[in-house]
Amino acid sequence: MDVDQLLQRHDVDTARFEPAPLSPSWREMRDHLALLAGCALCGDTCLSVWVADMGSGPRWVGLCRGHTPGILSELAAPTVLGRTGAVHG
Ligand SMILES: [Zn+2]
Repeated sequence: MDVDQLLQRHDVDTARFEPAPLSPSWREMRDHLALLAGCALCGDTCLSVWVADMGSGPRWVGLCRGHTPGILSELAAPTVLGRTGAVHG
């Protein structure tokens, strides 16, 4: 599952998040991770930061430890290493 599907499944409207650059650099993503208010799904401390576009343009989306793992396994696959997702620690 990618982050767009995850947000869709939880009925998250990304319009309420801050606009993000379409292709942020690793540094931008790392820096933005520190600014995120909390997980997009539960409000917990963010472990990962993503750029998702649910129809309102690219937005910064943070996910906590509990909501990130399903995505981590995809990130580990060589074919998706170039996707927009950065993980803390
Ligand atoms: Zn969460």
